[in-house]
Amino acid sequence: MQELRELAKKLLAEGAVKVVVGYAEGRQGVRPIFAATPEDADKLIFDPRCVQNLATYLSPRRAHVAALGKLAVVVKGCDAMAAAGMIREAQRKRDDFVLIGVRCGGVLADPRASAAVTEATVAARCPGCEVREPKIVDHLLGPLPPAPPGASALDARIAELDAMTPEERFAFWTSELAKCVRCNACREICPMCFCVRCVCDKSQPQWIESSPHARGNLAWHMTRALHQAGRCVGCGECERACPVGIPLSLLNRKVARVVAERFDYVVSDDPEKPAPIGTYRLEDDQEFIR
Ligand code: SF4
Ligand code: SF4
Ligand code: SF4
Repeated sequence: MQELRELAKKLLAEGAVKVVVGYAEGRQGVRPIFAATPEDADKLIFDPRCVQNLATYLSPRRAHVAALGKLAVVVKGCDAMAAAGMIREAQRKRDDFVLIGVRCGGVLADPRASAAVTEATVAARCPGCEVREPKIVDHLLGPLPPAPPGASALDARIAELDAMTPEERFAFWTSELAKCVRCNACREICPMCFCVRCVCDKSQPQWIESSPHARGNLAWHMTRALHQAGRCVGCGECERACPVGIPLSLLNRKVARVVAERFDYVVSDDPEKPAPIGTYRLEDDQEFIR
């Protein structure tokens, strides 16, 4: 932690960045902090409660953040992939920001808890994680903690859904998506949702009904899931933000698996590796283009 605070102070003192975006203690657990002074930098922490994906503050649609000047952002491996995604998709340039990577042993499913990371408390996305030491970063801090314990609850749940009939799966998702109140929190928090004007906000013509309604809800979630294909970094922030507990991570991970099987592509923090959504290959095995 001291290493992080010292680095932040150095970057600020040298004028390398105007603000360091990291984590600090808040009234209801860990919260993001925009540190612009040495006093603020002394508040920086990193521990398993730091679930938030702070790369979302690099999104080009956050003009009010960009107006602060050059940022350094504290990133876990999954967060670093989002920063890489913005570079890959020509939204930001690599030297627009500084990335302070932290080696990660997993985070908690409930960030308000102050328990250790155990099989019972670990976030569903963490077991089996292969990006605990981000590569794209400018600085990499801390020793590598033990790997997150247990097996992925997401994979087990996806296996259950895969075993259902299409009708049963449709009934499951229809019932889940019926809860959606269309607050757009999932979109607002997502580092990879950076369209200045989202298709679901367009009213002339209106492609997707914007009020909570079974038909519009299904169209919204199918559109978003497909828009995230090969782009979602699996940070779980959309599900964490959802006020009604829709298991969006299941949808995202299932789509990621299909992309891996179909296109041999797994999202990484290598911005040079082109994503399939923007790549045409003659050897694509999609039946519909034959
Ligand atoms: S997915 Fe990986 S990098 Fe991200 S919080 Fe979990 S263990 Fe850390
Ligand atoms: S869709 Fe959800 S899990 Fe994927 S990058 Fe966005 S917030 Fe993270
Ligand atoms: S955060 Fe949840 S309720 Fe809000 S739009 Fe997204 S899925 Fe629907």
